[in-house]
Order: sequence, then C-alpha cells, then structure tokens
Amino acid sequence: MFDLLITDARLTDGREGQDIAVLGDRIAEVGAGLAARGAQARERIDAAGQLVSPPFVDAHFHMDATLSWGLPRVNRSGTLLEGIALWGELKPTLTADAIIERAMAYCDWAVARGLLAVRTHVDTCDPRLLAVEALLEVRRKVAPWLDLQLVAFPQDGILRYDPARDKPGCTDSAFDLLKKALDLGVDVVGGIPHFERTMDSGRESVRLLAEEAARRGLRVDMHCDETDDPLSRHIETLTHETQRLGLQGRVNGSHLTSMHSMDNYYVSKLIPLMAEAQVSATANPLINITIQGRHDTYPKRRGMTRVPELLAGGVEVAFGHDCVMDPWYSLGSADMLEVAHMGLHVAQMTGEAAMRQCFAAVTEAPARILGLEGYGVAPGCFADFVLLQARDPIEAIRLRAARLVVVRRGRVVATAPRQASTLALDGRPASVDFMIRRPG
Ligand SMILES: [Zn+2]
Repeated sequence: MFDLLITDARLTDGREGQDIAVLGDRIAEVGAGLAARGAQARERIDAAGQLVSPPFVDAHFHMDATLSWGLPRVNRSGTLLEGIALWGELKPTLTADAIIERAMAYCDWAVARGLLAVRTHVDTCDPRLLAVEALLEVRRKVAPWLDLQLVAFPQDGILRYDPARDKPGCTDSAFDLLKKALDLGVDVVGGIPHFERTMDSGRESVRLLAEEAARRGLRVDMHCDETDDPLSRHIETLTHETQRLGLQGRVNGSHLTSMHSMDNYYVSKLIPLMAEAQVSATANPLINITIQGRHDTYPKRRGMTRVPELLAGGVEVAFGHDCVMDPWYSLGSADMLEVAHMGLHVAQMTGEAAMRQCFAAVTEAPARILGLEGYGVAPGCFADFVLLQARDPIEAIRLRAARLVVVRRGRVVATAPRQASTLALDGRPASVDFMIRRPG
C-alpha cells in the first residue's frame, strides 16, 4: 500500500503514461501501468496526461528585502544604484519581526507556485546582523515545506563598508560581520567585487572570500560584474581562485552582466576557463533586462550574460528571480516560469532544445548549483513535485502554467484550479484553455 499514487503523468524527459508511487517522504516507483497492475494507495491523483516536474528552484533571491515595495518610498528611477541607496534608507528602520513576516509571506507564494528551494542572499553589512538572525529563523520555520539556503552577502562591500558608520565605536570590519554570519549558520559565502572602490580591491575581496570559503568547506556565490562595464572581469579572478583553492563544482557567479559587453576574443578564453573550474553561472533575466543598459541611449544593450554560449561551453546556467516587490523591482510573484519566459526571450533561446534548457534553468540546473539531495522524479528521490496544467516544459513556459498540485515530502501542500475562460459566442466552444488540440 503506497501513501500516494499519481497516475498518467508526463515527465520532463517526454515519457508519457507514467505512474508515480510515493511511500512516506520518498518516491518508491515510477513507471507505466503501476495502477493497472493493482498498485493501491491511500491517496490517488489523476494527472490526466499533464506534466509532473520536479519542483522549481530559485538559485538567486533576496528574501530580506522582498515584499518591502514602497517602504520607505518607491524607486523613482528604477536603477540599481537608487535601489541600493533605497535599501540603505530602509535598513535602519527594519525590525526582525517585519523581515520574518514578509519572508514567510513570500514563502507562502513560493509554495503555491511549486517553488520549493530558494538560495537567498542576506545582507551582512549591518552591525546588528538583523536580517541574518531573521532569515535563520525563517529557514528553520519553513524547513518542512521549503529548502532555504542562505548566502552571506556584503551588500556594501567587505572592503568598502565601514560598520562604524552605522554604529559609532563598532570595531568589527565588514569582513568580520560576514564571518559572524557564517558562524551563526549561514550556508554560503557571498561577495560583490564590482561594488568595491577599485578593480584591485574587488580582486582582493574575491581572494579573501574564496579563501574563507575554502577554510570552512563552504560553497561560494558572488554577485559578480553586475555592470555594463566590459572591463569588469572579476569572474576571471573568481574562476582563478576556484582553481587555485580546489573549490571546483562549489562556486557560482551571479549576474555576470559585464560579459554581455565584453570583447568576443576575451570571452572565447574566459568561458573554457569557467568550464574547467566548474564555475556555474546564474543570470537573473527579469532584473538584468530592466537594470542593465541604463546608461545607453540607442542601441540599448540587453545586459544579460551570454547564456547560450555558456551552455554550449559546458557551463551550468540557472535563471534566478533575484527580486520580487523590493527596492530594485516592483513586480513578480514567485513564478519561476515567468523568469524562464523572460530568460528565453532575452537570450533568444527559441529553438526547441533551447526552450527546454530554459525550463531546466529553473529546475535541474539550480538544484545542482544548490547541491540539493534527492532532487528529481525518480525512485529514491524525495517525493517533491509539481503537477502543471501543461503537457511539456515548453507549454509550461508559454502558459506560465497553473500549478494544479504541489507535493512536498509526499504531502499535498498546495492546489489550484485549472485555468480556463468561459465563452458566450454563438457557434463557438463554451470555453478555451489556450492549448491546441488536433484530431488524431
Ligand atoms: Zn542579487
């Protein structure tokens, strides 16, 4: 007797008519005809030929700032620098309770969207480490339904930020604060080399932070080269430090937008070095397309990193959401299909295989970058998956498909009704669901 049996599912690899049997919090069996052969279960869900995908994973987010839109005021220019300034105005007024409440509300949205793992950066440039304490609490609270991975993120730069500015007499350096956050249990080492005062101090920050990660055996995920400056090449240093310190497979460069504007010859050397060091990349399409190119008139650069070229060069690439209703971005609703949809358009990844890669960039790829255990729709994996109102990954992206059922550790944690519109047109169908149906 199984605990849960999903029947007649399509999987992301194209297999049809699959039944998924769950025992406890794990997937016990996947295959055609389990139900027909008499498999019994306490609970049964008919997928009716629709797609069952492993859950969405967000490789790059800022949960300490999410849902703070309009506090204390909105970002009038919509630029990155006004966003950072606005966050600086908001920070002194934050309370742990308010951060926890907003983050918990966001996690509710995430679960409803089938987004069950999030890597979030948490600002450590605060002598109180208020957001760190708050998000450690959130990580504990949401653990039954969502994997939250925390990155120690020095928003104002470990060499540029002086904690005594916010707390007179404070003797900690910004680097000390980041190390304290790691001592408290933050999972990953972050950084922001392009925000340090000079290229040299940017390089120095990468070296210090990578060495700290190597000492502690932690993963690294830096905001790296989030600029249109083609000479911002901190990804080169990050890749070199990964090789030098033996951190292969544990380091991610987030944004890498300068790569959009770099010299082609230089990139032809850089991408193979990244692949060799197994450095992964996370693009944030919704944010890159709205924040980059702001100093351009026309032509106006898209600014997103070179996703198809990185993939072709053997580099793992994820798409992150980065922001939802915060000082940098006023929109969003925890929908990783919206992220994939934008990434697909900005990168012009409209070929069939490329569209499937965009779906993988919000599921399998970030799962590998986060190092998630037991991820996937296969026997032995955790029983975490999403039933989508779509027949394949491409249709899921096209429709930003409804998450009909979300399962976490074998338990249904969210449901949504099928999306359809009722029509009142003489001689036409009574409803539409935006899917093509061809006879035969
Ligand atoms: Zn970010």
